[in-house]
Amino acid sequence: MKVIVVGSSHGGYETVRGILAAQPDTEIQWYEQGDFLSFLSCGMQLYLEGKVKDVNNVSYATPTDMRAQGVHVYLNSEISQVQPDQHQVHVIDHATGQERDESYDKLVLSVGAVPAVLPVPGHDLKNIYAMRGRDWAIKLKAKTVDPTVKNVVVIGSGYIGIEAAEVFAKAGMHVTIIDLLPRLLSLYLDQEFTDVLTKTMVDHGIYPAVGQSIQSFEGQDGHVTKVVTDQAEYAADLVVTAAGIRPATGFLKGVVDLDAHGLIKINEHLQTSQADVYAVGDATLVPFAPTGKLNRIALATNARRQGRIAAKNLLGTPIAMPAVSGSSALSVFDYHFASTGVKEGTSAKLGVDCASVLVTDTIRPKFVTTENGNAKVWFKLTYDPTDGRVLGAQIMSTADVTANINAISLAVQLKASVYDLAYADFFFQPGFDRPWNIINVAAQKAVQHLNTTN
Ligand SMILES: Cc1cc2nc3c(=O)[nH]c(=O)nc-3n(C[C@H](O)[C@H](O)[C@H](O)COP(=O)(O)OP(=O)(O)OC[C@H]3O[C@@H](n4cnc5c(N)ncnc54)[C@H](O)[C@@H]3O)c2cc1C
Repeated sequence: MKVIVVGSSHGGYETVRGILAAQPDTEIQWYEQGDFLSFLSCGMQLYLEGKVKDVNNVSYATPTDMRAQGVHVYLNSEISQVQPDQHQVHVIDHATGQERDESYDKLVLSVGAVPAVLPVPGHDLKNIYAMRGRDWAIKLKAKTVDPTVKNVVVIGSGYIGIEAAEVFAKAGMHVTIIDLLPRLLSLYLDQEFTDVLTKTMVDHGIYPAVGQSIQSFEGQDGHVTKVVTDQAEYAADLVVTAAGIRPATGFLKGVVDLDAHGLIKINEHLQTSQADVYAVGDATLVPFAPTGKLNRIALATNARRQGRIAAKNLLGTPIAMPAVSGSSALSVFDYHFASTGVKEGTSAKLGVDCASVLVTDTIRPKFVTTENGNAKVWFKLTYDPTDGRVLGAQIMSTADVTANINAISLAVQLKASVYDLAYADFFFQPGFDRPWNIINVAAQKAVQHLNTTN
């Protein structure tokens, strides 16, 4: 069997690995339009902050290793057309200028997404950068040490925008972060958490400009100098845009079914509307466990799961994509947070009725001092007010307690309730935890609340 995989980031990489693990004698052709295999944007912040020195190490695969495993790797090679009736793709080799057709038995599209361009005057000025992919990583790195860059404006306060803001604040620049929404990180955390994090960011030189919409970029000699919103103007030597992504599916229009946003429609086996053509990653939707509906959750974790599942399906083992909870984690200066599933702030948009309990405590017994690693923790558990089904949670501390969120993610996926979590068996040792884990404490509080209200 001959399989063509398009795109070499998380989804493409995992598809190739999945095929190699199950049927190593499969003929795999792996195409990447860029000049580098498997760059992982998740590692960008580590590179920009100098924790990873070589940009080329921000990857899981090298062409040499993959070729040694029998994979035919093609860089600088764009798939410009798919002809499903002929089971054929058209390849443009940008290094040589040559073009050719290649046949496939199965095709996997992991073409991902590109940063959205804000459609406002001045968007094409120089020094307006994006935070995605190796080329932008290299350009941004140069700006972290550029003495002419004093004012940085980041657009978008999702986790990517926050990573960019932190990079440039740590590099000593004055950073403004603009968002249309009224709070930083508001799609990831509720206000009890973002109030603390916003203060921390302000303390570190990041100025939040929220509830504002970008009107234009202004410049001098072709370079950006100012960002104009509906409420203010911000000096800018560099703008980093992190305000959404657009699926890289233009060449698939009229070939496979796309939704109104250009996302590839797939069934639970990750098949597109065309026979033998699969799609995974940021260019698709995933089933969201709390609602059971399809949702757009652009995370490497989802692309990875889909890649593995696409590999199984195309090799003849039918397996459905499991629903995911949309879990993510991030550090913001001294704080570490993670969240999963539904938050109060996102519930209305998701059409979900929810209730929540917030617990603030210390991670270890009171007799353990701060100097010995005891720290404050915020934990919020969100559940269905009719039956107590767990819908999501958020956690934050200066200690790294983020892994608790994986337990909640599983609870969401398994449709567990706060009654299940109230007395669930979690470990205790004063070096790590309290006799009742904070999940138990929150769930017990939720049960008490349910018992008094229902
Ligand atoms: C700064 C940043 C940090 C992130 N951090 C995290 C994190 O910590 N955890 C997490 O879970 N997720 C994180 N993500 C999200 C994660 O990177 C994406 O969800 C993931 O990369 C999606 O993988 P993908 O395979 O769908 O596509 P993409 O990563 O978008 O890659 C698509 C690839 O396909 C290639 N391609 C596209 N079209 C063609 C074509 N026609 N022919 C040939 N090649 C083509 C592109 O050049 C690209 O290399 C982060 C994203 C960013 C930008």
